Amino acid sequence: MLSTSAPAATSLSLQSAVASPALLAIRDLQVDYMTPQGPVRAVNGVSFDIKPGEVFGLAGESGSGKSTIAHALMRILPPPAVISGGSVLFDGDDVLDMGLEELEQFRWRSVSMVFQSAMNALNPVLTVGDQIKDVLHTHQPWLTKQQANARAAELLDIVGIEKTRLSAYPHQLSGGMRQRVVIAIALALKPQLMIMDEPTTALDVVVQKDILQQIETLKDELGFSILFITHDLSLMVEFSDRIAIMYAGEIVELAAAGELFNNPLHPYTRGLMNSFPALTGPKEVLTGIPGSPPDMRQPPPGCRFHPRCDRTMSHCSLTHTQLREVAPGHLVACHLY
Ligand code: SF4
Repeated sequence: MLSTSAPAATSLSLQSAVASPALLAIRDLQVDYMTPQGPVRAVNGVSFDIKPGEVFGLAGESGSGKSTIAHALMRILPPPAVISGGSVLFDGDDVLDMGLEELEQFRWRSVSMVFQSAMNALNPVLTVGDQIKDVLHTHQPWLTKQQANARAAELLDIVGIEKTRLSAYPHQLSGGMRQRVVIAIALALKPQLMIMDEPTTALDVVVQKDILQQIETLKDELGFSILFITHDLSLMVEFSDRIAIMYAGEIVELAAAGELFNNPLHPYTRGLMNSFPALTGPKEVLTGIPGSPPDMRQPPPGCRFHPRCDRTMSHCSLTHTQLREVAPGHLVACHLY
């Protein structure tokens, strides 16, 4: 566990918000980008839990710190980013204390990741079968050739692709099929948690829904949890059990998906909700959120959202906000509550 180098920006009564034991417990996580001008804090005191079998959504605009958190918990942050404080516990193990060997076991076996650029994640000169078997041979070297072949075929079948496609090259598959292959690889070692970082952004809406429904079925069958990261809030509400909304490196609201959709409290969450058209009901004018996310080299003092907030009060620019539980399981960081 790393020592916390800066005071916690967010206090969170997670014990009351999370009843069952957590598979993943992140506490007061801080990530800095070390620039020649000094550290720039990209993630500031983030805490949340993911329960076994849960889909936990992390939403927010680009640059809000969503992907940085995912990379931090996998310990694959590219330099100059460093984890400067907090703790990450996975099934009771301290991820930030793991050595290289332990990390190798942890990645793919305990936690796998479907990356943002999944469309390009496959090697164009290897067949999809060889790419699945590559992961199997690396982590389960005792498998015979026949066993690895059978498992690769089974994995393709799980994601709805004919086993005859084992010999296909990525360019011979549609975008949706390539994405399913990437998911098959992520499932290869039966992980307990799958991180999906904008997994369907590059696909059309119909294929997107189809793949997400299939992942939901697989999750129920195989029992893994999902950390689902996207900027598409309507997709997230449909697909997640609980959702945390991020703004400028901090969680500003956390609640069950239905509660967040029906009763968004933070002005930023309300703005995000108004940025997407409703799938049903009468047509409404989309209002969106004025202004742009802050420059993280100099985030605004007090509430980081105050320059864009339509409910701002005199003390909002002076006093930092802390996440507080305002209803069972519903936490918000805003001076209005
Ligand atoms: Fe708006 Fe103030 Fe709440 Fe920040 S703390 S979201 S500025 S009302």
